[in-house]
Amino acid sequence: MNDLIDKLTEAEAKTLLKTLETKRPTIILDAYNSIKRTDPEPDRPSAEVQGWCKCTHCPEMDRELDRVCCNMRPEHCISLRTEMSLVTDTLVLNIQGPMNKGIYVHDAALEQTQDELNQKLRQGAYRQCNLWIHGHLGPRIRKNVPACCVQVIRDKFPDSAGKYTGFIPLE
Ligand SMILES: [Zn+2]
Ligand SMILES: [Zn+2]
Repeated sequence: MNDLIDKLTEAEAKTLLKTLETKRPTIILDAYNSIKRTDPEPDRPSAEVQGWCKCTHCPEMDRELDRVCCNMRPEHCISLRTEMSLVTDTLVLNIQGPMNKGIYVHDAALEQTQDELNQKLRQGAYRQCNLWIHGHLGPRIRKNVPACCVQVIRDKFPDSAGKYTGFIPLE
């Protein structure tokens, strides 16, 4: 395998990384973070941004455990990627619903308010987002959805009273 990698041209290596990146963004992110970079950190565009957020797209979060950033530079923030529209696609969420233990979104027999439905859609979207970013983590490993992506999901499926429970991981 190392031999194969050594033979790649720079252009081939870049294409390969980009293909990998669309499948699993965190593979590249983790590898990138492990490389000690000697160049200075880019200037933060806004002093207002909370200390834990690097991408500048995360909203303030009440719970400590929700203060998770995608850790990308502002222009590469995961929440800006086109895949986010798939993560929040209602058709995809309805198909995924039955697999998400009890989060069955499209159930005509249930009389649900829009807020109740949106809450289920948000939970479904958080799970999709987590799967997309981290892959399948196994039962005991939990990672939270980056707050910037949580914001996109809340904007798409808002709660009329602004009450949000946050991501509830599956047991
Ligand atoms: Zn952030
Ligand atoms: Zn971000």
